[in-house]
Amino acid sequence: MRVCIYCLEKKPDEAFNADHVIPQAFGKFEGNLVLDCVCTDCNHYFGGTLDLKLARDSIEGIDRIWTGMKSASEFKSLGSKSTTRVRFKPGSVYGAEGYPAPNATGPDLRVMAFPQMGFEQPPGTMHWFRREEIPEKARLSEHGLDPKKEVFIHVREMAADDARQLLLSKGYDKLADFAVYGPPAEETIETLMVGIIGEPEKRAATRIAMGYLAAVAGAALVRTASFDEVRKFARHGLGSSRVHVSENPLAITRPDGSSARGHYLVAATQPSGLVVAQVSLFQRIRYVVHLMSASLATATPMISQAHFFDVDTRKVAPLSVPPLVGGKALKVAERPDASERTP
Ligand SMILES: [Zn+2]
Repeated sequence: MRVCIYCLEKKPDEAFNADHVIPQAFGKFEGNLVLDCVCTDCNHYFGGTLDLKLARDSIEGIDRIWTGMKSASEFKSLGSKSTTRVRFKPGSVYGAEGYPAPNATGPDLRVMAFPQMGFEQPPGTMHWFRREEIPEKARLSEHGLDPKKEVFIHVREMAADDARQLLLSKGYDKLADFAVYGPPAEETIETLMVGIIGEPEKRAATRIAMGYLAAVAGAALVRTASFDEVRKFARHGLGSSRVHVSENPLAITRPDGSSARGHYLVAATQPSGLVVAQVSLFQRIRYVVHLMSASLATATPMISQAHFFDVDTRKVAPLSVPPLVGGKALKVAERPDASERTP
């Protein structure tokens, strides 16, 4: 019998399987840290939710393509449910939004536009609204538009009839002037990637941090009540996040002087006696995870561990523990609509 570190249920050995501390979507490493203290139910839950979100719909997930770990044709998009946005820069769709999509014919991802409408007023100035956010005609002034003056409406990724009906239902009675544009066929448009760092990303980072601590300090420690708050957050999304997010401050150099690319994990007991972890995938964003709650903390062992997962050599090596300080703080959304990251 074993006790799972995430659900704390006692189950027979056959109800457990190998759990990789760095999800396998982020690389297969020689000597990856593997846990035997995560039950199959929790493993499947994370695999089908948080790990999937992180791999398919986050800036780190897209880094898998940019670093060559995955090809653009293998990318699996969440489609219009994606919270990773692409903003179109100058061109016919300036200011509109899309999402990353697989590309069978080239090394880079394609961009698909969301169903949306651009309200043009005055000529040359576009106000884009996603299909579900198109304002009633009576409320146009709240969006800086004058309903008494001419507005050209550009429709993207919606059938003309669908667009016309939607506009009529919102009070647009004069529909003589609007243009329908198709997707930017093979056009190359400069884009800006906007990643959302919300609860799923923070829960995914918390789970990786807990797994790492179990790997380097033992599962028994992670099962203690000091970790109940992060456990509930990671496994059930309950309670509030204990995660701070910043840009990655750490550069890692190989012995030959070249700069290494990869993931790093850190777990270290702080002067407060509490263990704080750091999680960074592709050295893109750094998640600082406060794993223990002071009110529930018992005697804390001295932990000072860090590992680097090199995505080029596919090797795992110990790292000296980096400081917690540094790295520009990033705006973070509890709901996926506010925070931005521009690679
Ligand atoms: Zn479990």
